[in-house]
Amino acid sequence: MAESKTKLFGVMGHPIGHSLSPHLHNMLMKELGHEGVYVPFHVLPTKLNEAVKGAHALGINGVNVTIPHKEKVMDYLFDVDPLARQIGAVNTLHYKEEGYVGYNTDADGFLRSLAYEDVAITDKVVVIIGAGGAAKALTILCAAQKAKKIIIMNRNISRAEKLAYLVKQYYDVDIEIYPLQSVVMEESIDLCIQTTPVGMYPNEGAVPVSDESFYKKIKVAVDIIYNPFQTAFLENCKKYGAKTIEGIGMLVYQGIRSYEIWNDIQVPQSIQHKIYLELRNYIQRGSF
Ligand code: NAP
Repeated sequence: MAESKTKLFGVMGHPIGHSLSPHLHNMLMKELGHEGVYVPFHVLPTKLNEAVKGAHALGINGVNVTIPHKEKVMDYLFDVDPLARQIGAVNTLHYKEEGYVGYNTDADGFLRSLAYEDVAITDKVVVIIGAGGAAKALTILCAAQKAKKIIIMNRNISRAEKLAYLVKQYYDVDIEIYPLQSVVMEESIDLCIQTTPVGMYPNEGAVPVSDESFYKKIKVAVDIIYNPFQTAFLENCKKYGAKTIEGIGMLVYQGIRSYEIWNDIQVPQSIQHKIYLELRNYIQRGSF
């Protein structure tokens, strides 16, 4: 039962029915022995401003923001963290008396999922497949982590060019652009990050790049799709000897980072890993 000291959290999205965040955060609070409630809020785009004001007036301590509100919500905040401002999207609102402060925890979540596999970005040649919202956060992360070179591959070349232009406004980094197909890449790829929805359920057989020789160059591959856990892209990379990392880690750790911001704590690594395993099992059982 909610007491007066019970902290309140939630996620705003449209649609919101399939969000895993309530389960993740309720597991986390139970594990940490914290008293709190985390609930999904279905918020229509036309009601976003009112929803943010209302949540603040009610004293809701922390809010996650998901599709389609991640960019627009920035207009309704008291302040935005510099990294979230560069990325141009916010997924975490932290209550302050004057209003909410917005953060983007996707990049941190991704970095933690690499760290668990002892993979670093600094001084590495990184290929990013895709140039959408997730690619933007991860390209900025790779630039901030001082990748040796970033290669963006996208179907729509002008979108990739715009992303490269944006990142270069903030970071002095070497960025090249390639189309998705007919890839002629001389150098080997230290880290390849797949950010398109290609290969996601129900199209599990699909891969974003069909040229087999491309996969031979990859040393470490990450697919940020988490349904399925092992995409056809990861299977291809594995076939040619790459180490592979699933997207479910990024999902879990970005949520944990939000919770850390709301509570000004660091969740112990053992608990982070436990939550990761529990959420993975929960999805595998088809419980959502
Ligand atoms: P988005 O902004 O819509 O961007 C989609 C990107 O994929 C664009 O670069 C688009 O290329 C490309 N693309 C889409 N369909 C394609 C196709 N059939 N062939 C080739 N390229 C295609 O989407 P997003 O928000 O970045 O999300 C992308 C994926 O990441 C989703 O599957 C999402 O579930 C996943 N994600 C996972 C996490 C996590 O925590 N693991 C977090 C965020 C997102 P064009 O520019 O050519 O259209």
